[in-house]
Amino acid sequence: MSLENKNIIVTGASSGIGEATAKKLAAAGANVVITARRTERLNELKDEIEKDGGKALAITGDVTSKEDWKSIVEQTHNNFGKVDVLVNNAGLMPLSFVENLKTDEWDKMVDVNIKGVLNGVASVVPDMKETKAGHIINISSVAGRKIMPAGAVYCATKYAVRALSEGIRLEMGPKYNTKVTSIEPGFVATELTNTITDDDVKDMMSQFEDLTPLQASDIADSIYYALTQPEHSSVNEILIRPTNQD
Ligand code: NDP
Repeated sequence: MSLENKNIIVTGASSGIGEATAKKLAAAGANVVITARRTERLNELKDEIEKDGGKALAITGDVTSKEDWKSIVEQTHNNFGKVDVLVNNAGLMPLSFVENLKTDEWDKMVDVNIKGVLNGVASVVPDMKETKAGHIINISSVAGRKIMPAGAVYCATKYAVRALSEGIRLEMGPKYNTKVTSIEPGFVATELTNTITDDDVKDMMSQFEDLTPLQASDIADSIYYALTQPEHSSVNEILIRPTNQD
C-alpha cells in the first residue's frame, strides 16, 4: 500500500516518536498534519519536511481540547481532504510511586494518554466511516502489557490504549474496513522521561542505564510497516523492545 497523497494526522509531533514518524511518512509521499502544543518545534519540523520535498501542515493544539481537535480536522479537510490515517501518539509519562500522591500528574496522564486518544478517535471516525479505508495507529507501550513499580497510573493508561485499539478494531474493521494498530515500544531515547518529578523514581531509572535504547526512527519504521501492508492485511499489534531490555 502506497502512502502517496494519504492524509495523515500525527499528534505529539513536536519531538521524539511523533517527529520521527512525521518525517518518515512525509518522505513516503504522505500529506502530514503535525500537531502538538509547542508551535516553534512544529514549525521547525514543517520547514525540514518541506525542504526535503514533503508536504506538511503544522497546527498547534492540545489533544485534551475538543475545540482544538475540531480545528485540526477542519484544517486537514481544507488543505488536504478527508483524514486517511490518525497516529495517536501524544503522551506523558510522569512516573511516580502511588504513596507519593502526585494526583495532579495522575489526572494529566489520564487526560492526555486516554482522553486525548479518545478525542482523536472521535474526530476521525466520521471520515473513516465514509471512506471505508481508514487506519488508526495508537501508541501504547510495553507498559500496556507489563506493570512496573511507579507505573501504576501510566501502565493503566497504556493498557487502556491497547483495550481501546482492540475494541475499535472489532467494531470498525468488519463494518467499515478500518485498520487499527497498537504500537507497543519498550525504552526509546526521547524526551519522555523529562516529565518525571518524583525523586524516588529518578533513582529507580538508573536501572535503564545499561540499555541500548531504541531510537524514535525505529518506531517510525514500525508504523510505516503497519501502514504499508496490502488492503486485506491489518497489523493489529507491534511489540518492539531494545534487544537487551528484559
Ligand atoms: P516525547 O516526550 O518526545 O513526545 C511526547 C509528545 O507528546 C510531544 O510531542 C508533546 O508535545 C506531546 N504532547 C504531550 N502532551 C500533549 C498534549 N496535551 N497535547 C498535545 N500534545 C501533547 O516522548 P515520546 O516520543 O517517547 O512519546 C510518544 C509516545 O510514545 C507517548 O504516547 C509515549 O507514552 C509512548 N511511548 C514512549 C516510549 C519511550 O520509551 N519513549 C515507550 C513506549 C511508549 P508538546 O509538549 O509540544 O505538546
